[in-house]
Amino acid sequence: MTMTACYFCGSTQYKKISHHVFRGDTFCLAQCLLCNLVYTIPRVSAQESVRYYTDYYGERKPLVDGFLNRIRVRRVRRIIRLGSILDVGCGTGSFLLRMRHLGWESTGTEISPAYMYEDLIRQGVNIKKCDLPVCDLVPDSFDVVTLWHVFEHLMDPKAYLKKIHEILHDEGTLLIEVPNYASLQASVGGLAWFHLDIPRHTMHLTPKTLVQFLTSAGFHVEHVRSGSMFYDIFGEVQTMYNRCLGNQQVLFDIIGGRAHIRGHEKDIFLMAVLAPLVGLSALFAYALAALWGRSGTILVYAKKATI
Ligand SMILES: [Zn+2]
Repeated sequence: MTMTACYFCGSTQYKKISHHVFRGDTFCLAQCLLCNLVYTIPRVSAQESVRYYTDYYGERKPLVDGFLNRIRVRRVRRIIRLGSILDVGCGTGSFLLRMRHLGWESTGTEISPAYMYEDLIRQGVNIKKCDLPVCDLVPDSFDVVTLWHVFEHLMDPKAYLKKIHEILHDEGTLLIEVPNYASLQASVGGLAWFHLDIPRHTMHLTPKTLVQFLTSAGFHVEHVRSGSMFYDIFGEVQTMYNRCLGNQQVLFDIIGGRAHIRGHEKDIFLMAVLAPLVGLSALFAYALAALWGRSGTILVYAKKATI
């Protein structure tokens, strides 16, 4: 594997889209000339990437967390009312705890050492602190596998999909939600697009390139849903603030528990002043993108393909 090989097809033929500097390191957004996947180069190893995640993990504000979890629970229970679930990259595990309280057999994987799970484990949630491809999980054992805004961070997406194919029931469902690089907010936001997040986002997926990944890994994509109210509107708002106030992601960091209000008083004042205009514009952009089929997020429902 070279540092510029495409994550999907392995080609090193690409065109550069833009340059980015993060914590003193230079990255490029590149598009593969063979399969069209947009990805971040140079590719870095999991070990090297650790420094890009310093201060990244936090705990979402309870109101936001509760809202997001309610939506996620509803999406899963629309497929099956009760069963076994694996949430890959489960973060704090609050979604899994909610599923557990609803009677689900809940398992999560997480590689970040930032989270402690004693309380969740006591309540019956099974946590594997390891990278999914090397996790000890029983084959054909899950009804549902979810990756909520995790797939775009992966360094070895094919290994993940191979493992998911192995551990999912034959009738099980895989749900993957990612930001949409083909969205209106990505086009308008450009380098200020909130969901670009280079270098932590290794891949910048579109409905087409995500489906391509799944199909080649032996999945049949049943449904591609476009748009997630929270992520879309928040993506619009933060992108507008990034443009107006400089590329800071301040609101995201405060909501995610990574930054404190103290020390950002000036940013908060300016955001409050701009809030009515930004809020209305974000709602308008959300509706326009939905009508146009270019929403800020993609949610894919896939099953194992039958031979
Ligand atoms: Zn490619």
